[in-house]
Amino acid sequence: MLGPVILAASRSDRMRRLISAAPVTKQVVDRFIPGETVDEIVPIIQDLTAKGLELTMDVVGEDITRPEQAEAARDAYLRLIDRIKELELGDRVEMSVKLSMFGQALEDGHELALKNVRPVVEAAAAIGTTVTLDAEDHTTLDSMFAIHEELRKDFPQTGCVIQSYLFRTEADARRLAANGSRVRLVKGAYKEPAEVAYQQKHEIDKAYVRILKVLMEGEGYPMIGSHDPRLIAIAQELARRAGRKHDEYEFQMLYGIRSDEHLRLAAEGHRMRVYTAYGTDWYGYFMRRLAEKPANLRFFLRSMVSK
Ligand code: FAD
Repeated sequence: MLGPVILAASRSDRMRRLISAAPVTKQVVDRFIPGETVDEIVPIIQDLTAKGLELTMDVVGEDITRPEQAEAARDAYLRLIDRIKELELGDRVEMSVKLSMFGQALEDGHELALKNVRPVVEAAAAIGTTVTLDAEDHTTLDSMFAIHEELRKDFPQTGCVIQSYLFRTEADARRLAANGSRVRLVKGAYKEPAEVAYQQKHEIDKAYVRILKVLMEGEGYPMIGSHDPRLIAIAQELARRAGRKHDEYEFQMLYGIRSDEHLRLAAEGHRMRVYTAYGTDWYGYFMRRLAEKPANLRFFLRSMVSK
């Protein structure tokens, strides 16, 4: 039951200041967010791609308060895309973005986020890659789907994320599967109320399977975002039943979590994409990783005590 408490803390400024300043935090954070700058992340990109993995890159940050921060987010992604171009890895590395970091929650946020994210999507397309719009809390999703639809008019490869814990998601999946979209399905990482979301793990998992079936049988490109061994096995079976070849869907996992499984799936001939986050504003991302697994929190607390 610690998960919801940690998720509440992930939105607290006081906790952000406290945890960000803790002496050992950085060393624990590195497991999930292996760099703060483009220069630090380039060797990671090179190492993972050399091992046969593909990547989706997240410049961490969310919940901004000023439009200049949204422009800074845009520019950070543009610098990263320049480096990926230099590395000639446009066919292996795509981007994941959170629209809140592009201004979605500010005044006229929908238009602002669209204006700021479009140049990133354009730059990605120019080097042969694409962008996936991450799913944040449920209040942001109508705007995210509208921006996704708008971007797809010019850049049909633009992807989006759906979360199996939300009641709405099965209907979203049907719409997206029918119009041929790239869709990453995840369980969901935010604290959501019982009016909109399943609260029990077994309900979330069952919904995941139902939704995955819709995606696999549809016209789009399913991206299975999970570390759950049972769901990964079910995904393989559903893909087989739907007659999908290995390049007609992909697996995605987070950097630092079940890394052996990344390599095992890649060695089996699957497309395996590692979601790799970097940057300085890591607090929200890090706290969601702690909330997903109590053992992570114990490790974090132990490392502080033993310092
Ligand atoms: P779980 O049942 O939570 O975990 C299965 C097993 O995986 C666990 O038993 C454990 O062994 C391992 N595991 C899972 N999480 C951790 C962890 N933090 N630390 C250590 N081991 C762990 N959520 C969103 O709401 N929006 C997004 O846009 C989004 N994008 C994502 C992109 C990718 C590529 C992935 C993999 C996840 C993303 N998530 C996103 C997070 C997702 O919603 C889940 O919170 C997260 O993936 C944990 O769920 P699970 O499917 O791995 O299953």
